[in-house]
Amino acid sequence: MLQIKNISKKYTTGDFVQNALNNVSLNFRDNEFVAILGPSGSGKTTLLNIVGGLDRYDTGDLIINGISTKKYKDKDWDSYRNHTIGFVFQSYNLIPHQSILSNVELALTISGISKKERKERAKQALTDVGLGEQIHKRPNQLSGGQMQRVAIARALVNNPDILLADEPTGALDSDTSVQVMELLKEVAKDKLVIMVTHNPELANLYANRIVRVKDGHILDDSNPFELNDKKIAPPEHKNMGKSSMSFLTSLALSFNNLKTKKG
Ligand code: ADP
Ligand code: MG
Repeated sequence: MLQIKNISKKYTTGDFVQNALNNVSLNFRDNEFVAILGPSGSGKTTLLNIVGGLDRYDTGDLIINGISTKKYKDKDWDSYRNHTIGFVFQSYNLIPHQSILSNVELALTISGISKKERKERAKQALTDVGLGEQIHKRPNQLSGGQMQRVAIARALVNNPDILLADEPTGALDSDTSVQVMELLKEVAKDKLVIMVTHNPELANLYANRIVRVKDGHILDDSNPFELNDKKIAPPEHKNMGKSSMSFLTSLALSFNNLKTKKG
């Protein structure tokens, strides 16, 4: 469960201060397809980047599974991004001179898996988006829609809980956009998908929830997720992913040691 609580963010360039987000609060369900709609400059990308740990909020809190991120350090944000979040951008951001298989393989950040398993997982991710036959092609040998499906496969290969997409159909024609939306809708069956879009028709057709933003605040939300505040554990700081794994491992090891000594 992901919560944004009273988040504000401003950018200062010279003397000019731009309030990109003004006291924004939203709760997200673990699996739903949320479309963020709004005019250019309304704060959509800022919101998505803050949710994904690519950018920092000034005030407020991003609460992950009931845990505050206020005291997060860089390594906590790295771990959150690597283990929890997949990103899809409008411009695909694929490495041009590498096969799409390599593009997906390179995104596997989970450590301790063999070269062979990496390849298999990347292949599977590409098969899941309908590109199993094209894995040896380079990005420039594919259509825009296919490139975006590669980007989706790349975002999903680490099996993140949350997929964030910033105008994923912004560079696509309407037929191809529909394919990408169908795919995102499928992904949202067991993940949280948050998509920023300019396109209200696509949002209405595919998303289960539409949040409209303007000038850094929320205008309306078609399907808000109300939480009983009392049920939420008080925010605390906790490491996730890799760091908590090594912590658990060291705990387990010292416990084992203790047993051995006692025995
Ligand atoms: P959207 O994605 O809805 O088009 P953004 O979130 O990108 O909007 O931007 C919101 C506002 O913040 C805009 O006025 C934009 O110019 C400003 N902004 C965004 N990023 C920066 C930045 N890195 N530096 C300065 N201003 C920024
Ligand atoms: Mg944007």
